[in-house]
Amino acid sequence: MNLNNQENIKKNSRPPKKEPSPMEVRQRERFVGKSARVAAKYLRRLTELKGAPQAMKPFFQVLEDIHVNMKNVEQPTDTKIVGTYCVMVPQELIYAAGAQPVKLCSGSYSAFAIGDDLVPRDACPLVKSVMGFQAMGVMPVYEDCSLMVVPITCDCKKKMAGMLAERVPTYSLHVPTSKSDDDDMEQVVSEFYQLIPALEAVTGQAITCDSLARSIDGMGFAQYQMSQFAAYKKHVPALIQGTHAMALMNAFSYMPVDRFSEQLHRLNQELGRRQKEKQFVSMDKQPRIMVTGSPIIFPNIKIPLLIEEMGGILVGDETCMGERALYDPTVVVDQSFDGLLRSLANRYTRPCTCPTFVDNSQRIYRIKQMIADHQVQGVVYHVLRGCLVYDFEYQTLEEELGQLGIPVIRVESDYNEEDIEQLRIRIEAFIELIKLKDLAIKKQKQEKANE
Ligand code: SF4
Ligand code: SF4
Repeated sequence: MNLNNQENIKKNSRPPKKEPSPMEVRQRERFVGKSARVAAKYLRRLTELKGAPQAMKPFFQVLEDIHVNMKNVEQPTDTKIVGTYCVMVPQELIYAAGAQPVKLCSGSYSAFAIGDDLVPRDACPLVKSVMGFQAMGVMPVYEDCSLMVVPITCDCKKKMAGMLAERVPTYSLHVPTSKSDDDDMEQVVSEFYQLIPALEAVTGQAITCDSLARSIDGMGFAQYQMSQFAAYKKHVPALIQGTHAMALMNAFSYMPVDRFSEQLHRLNQELGRRQKEKQFVSMDKQPRIMVTGSPIIFPNIKIPLLIEEMGGILVGDETCMGERALYDPTVVVDQSFDGLLRSLANRYTRPCTCPTFVDNSQRIYRIKQMIADHQVQGVVYHVLRGCLVYDFEYQTLEEELGQLGIPVIRVESDYNEEDIEQLRIRIEAFIELIKLKDLAIKKQKQEKANE
């Protein structure tokens, strides 16, 4: 384990909580009430969106339990919780140590408002929101974490890791800046080897070849179910609204993987029935839209909701809160402990299309592939204010998609509701543009056929 991590984890086994003053108690109560109200409002809009499958209910319930009822992940009481802050943290290692991973990247407007005073103005809202929850100390998923693992992927995450380490046991997981060379992979493997003792110290349970193989299998089943779900999502007309698919992936952040796979299996069965019975949630003329860019995390789902409430259908989600988290299976070629670790290093780094890597041509390729697979007609490029890594890549993507004749719109947003009207107008205009373009294409085809 590198020295900094060792020192950080040692120095900050959580300090005993001091009794809050009456003013702090009132402030926390107000905060809890406000957070729960906002989450309940977005959950209501989510469930009211047309055509939610019955099998989505357990996923909605998870979001309600965590964000409205402020409960912790459903687990036997002695299970240790390990918080993670990116899809690049190998969940298999956490499960293999006998702990439960929970993804803690936050989309809370109320926590953002608190965090806004704690970190620099230009930091991204995700980090402000995490720090807001940390300061308030009321959210069980954060409070009950035995260890937080923060990949050092951008400046915001780096500084967030430093701030968290002042308060809670925190492990900084170093991510290489490039992922194409063997040396980069060696670095990831070495990072995973260093993470292992920190995870074992949390539970007192050794990570063995067997426990690791079992957890790779467990995640493998979820990845298999996800591949089925991804196939249903390609269906034209759509079988499920994209915002519901996003809710599913948000719920995954807080669910034991076995339970998630079981529920996803039920959802896939329901989508299969819908397909047979031709029960669709979209019509032929509905513009098929894909979203990419900065992560979209519940309850900050205003953009996908607006897209679908304004008449679009969200058929693709390339953000790291989408299917990307489970899209690529771990390919094991060597069953030894080292072999398993190398397979995980490959799985968590090579296919990752996060712009934190220097060379990211792979992301353009992946987006183009999704456009073809999902028959996408327009792309919404989401940039969280202050998220430079995604903003840097916008121009290249706009040029590439321009060559394909796919309209793209860049929407920048923050964690509040002040920009909703402006977003609504822009998204509505974008949807109209796609409809007009579609009409023009059909007219052209008709004219050609009549010649
Ligand atoms: S945007 Fe990149 S660094 Fe941030 S959580 Fe997603 S994958 Fe990780
Ligand atoms: S990648 Fe973007 S959204 Fe994620 S922590 Fe960094 S700045 Fe924030």
